[in-house]
Amino acid sequence: MTNLVGSKIFAGHFKGRRALVTGGGSGIGLGIAQAFAEAGASVMIVDRNPAVADAAAGLREAGFDVEHAVADVTNEDQVRAAFARVVELWDGLDILVNNAGIITISNLEDLSLDEFNKVLNVNTTAVFLCCREAAPLLKASSNGVILNASSGQGRQGFIFTPHYAASKFGVIGLSQSLAKELAPSGVRVNSYCPGIVKTEMWEYNDREWGSRLGNYKPGELIQEWIDEIPLKRPAEATDVANLLLFLASDAGSYITGQAINIDGGMFMN
Ligand code: NAD
Repeated sequence: MTNLVGSKIFAGHFKGRRALVTGGGSGIGLGIAQAFAEAGASVMIVDRNPAVADAAAGLREAGFDVEHAVADVTNEDQVRAAFARVVELWDGLDILVNNAGIITISNLEDLSLDEFNKVLNVNTTAVFLCCREAAPLLKASSNGVILNASSGQGRQGFIFTPHYAASKFGVIGLSQSLAKELAPSGVRVNSYCPGIVKTEMWEYNDREWGSRLGNYKPGELIQEWIDEIPLKRPAEATDVANLLLFLASDAGSYITGQAINIDGGMFMN
């Protein structure tokens, strides 16, 4: 990982604060978990992939206060258990990052209802489940913050991903509604919209979009899209994490109900 400027600027800022990051076992979520841990927070990493145990152990070995829970965020009981564990360990929660997400790429007539619902369940419904579970804990905190993963596709639907686009537009609406409801309790709710972050998700995107949009070899489609980004590079997980550190910090205390692009200028709305 590079670009760790955020956790240096915010070093120690999050000491005593407790964060839960979903989908934190790999990709962007792991970068976010690491950044908050480096900035002093106690971090619970939740992921359905049991390999999350190794990710958490790696961060603990580096000296950070990091725990993990293997849980599917679409499963109400498993979500409850993960939050209960946070309370047991740290007696409360200050920061919830709903980062877990999935994508599939399909033309309309091959897209089954199951596939459509699966993407909506992970990307949108699970955000509701985790926010609902977190709400009483965040209200009791003096720094309660929710950060929800949307996407450039929460701004504009791309081809062959109607379900993903719907799910990410949904995250922005859900976040705005909760921002209004929770503001009087001192809880801020924002969403973040990454553009291209080179994770496993993008390996799949490159392959699947590439084969549908033309005769692209692996790596060619993503490069074509990166060439269109004003800042001419994909994001690192740490670029996203830097934004989230700011939004969750005291420096972000007047920001709520916003969806913020972190995409090198890919979208300017
Ligand atoms: P990724 O596929 O690399 O990692 C996602 C992580 O979430 C994995 O560890 C996976 O096990 C976990 N996960 C998936 N479903 C889960 C579930 N039901 N319960 C618990 N954990 C689950 O994805 P990423 O690229 O790191 O993306 C993270 C978030 O950012 C997602 O919400 C994604 O939609 C969003 N996003 C990514 C990009 C990008 O370019 N990579 C762009 C825009 C938005």
